[in-house]
Amino acid sequence: MTDLTGKTALVTGGSRGIGRAIARRLAKEGALVAFTYASDEESAKETVASIESDGGRAFAFRAALGVPGDADGLWAEFDAAIGKHSDTPGVDILVNNAGVVGGGQIHEVTEADYDKVFAVNAKAPFFVIQKGLERLRDGGRIINISSGVTKVAFPAMTSYAASKGAIEVLTLTLAVTLGPRGITVNAVSPGTIETDIHPWMADPDAKAHAAAFSVFNRVGQPTDVADVVAFLASDDARWVTGQNIDASGGSGLGI
Ligand code: NAP
Repeated sequence: MTDLTGKTALVTGGSRGIGRAIARRLAKEGALVAFTYASDEESAKETVASIESDGGRAFAFRAALGVPGDADGLWAEFDAAIGKHSDTPGVDILVNNAGVVGGGQIHEVTEADYDKVFAVNAKAPFFVIQKGLERLRDGGRIINISSGVTKVAFPAMTSYAASKGAIEVLTLTLAVTLGPRGITVNAVSPGTIETDIHPWMADPDAKAHAAAFSVFNRVGQPTDVADVVAFLASDDARWVTGQNIDASGGSGLGI
């Protein structure tokens, strides 16, 4: 067990998929979990209900990322809500999880697609962190969700892979900046995880093809990633910072 009792976590994009599993796992370990969603309020309510039925504490609020002023808006919503749930207004664990995919080889990516992918996957976490630093308690954790597409080349996802590269370099840089405050900054890079982001997984042949990338011959589940995030959030990971932890089931290890 990873005791997070007394901690407050903020997970972006916690309503569905990997973010939901992270929110559930951190709450199970005792953290008060605040999480955001973009538009799917129903899924956000379901996530809160599932956490509460497990005996945990969580609340959700809407925060669209990738638009001007997104980080200020997110923290304003957080500040307005946290007092109803906690006597201590800060944050201990910030998980930048919300993200969007963007397809296309270099010649296919439009400027608008590129801007959207970078705005959500790279710019938003940058400013969510920047504007959250005054709320993040010393000894805290920042965990950025990257992707295995930075380790093995995926030419069909050029802009997406580049956006995840940006968050990984930010992770490395901030580990130095925030070290004096005892804040660790790490990334987690999932392989192919079964979530709504991959509607093509409804096709069994496509799913089997994706499964074959892993040495375990299966696609990952959101909990496969959430368990790694829980470790990084815990005191056990206090000496780990500036790292990118692979959570891909050994994808791309062989030839
Ligand atoms: P998902 O199932 O599509 O869930 C995305 C979550 O992010 C939802 O909570 C969604 O909110 C929120 N979100 C999406 N766009 C947003 C925006 N513009 N502003 C604010 N919130 C937004 O995705 P996922 O598969 O769990 O992916 C989560 C993270 O893992 C992403 O960073 C992704 O790049 C990364 N990742 C995923 C995989 C994979 O195979 N699934 C692999 C590697 C990395 P709503 O519910 O309101 O839409």
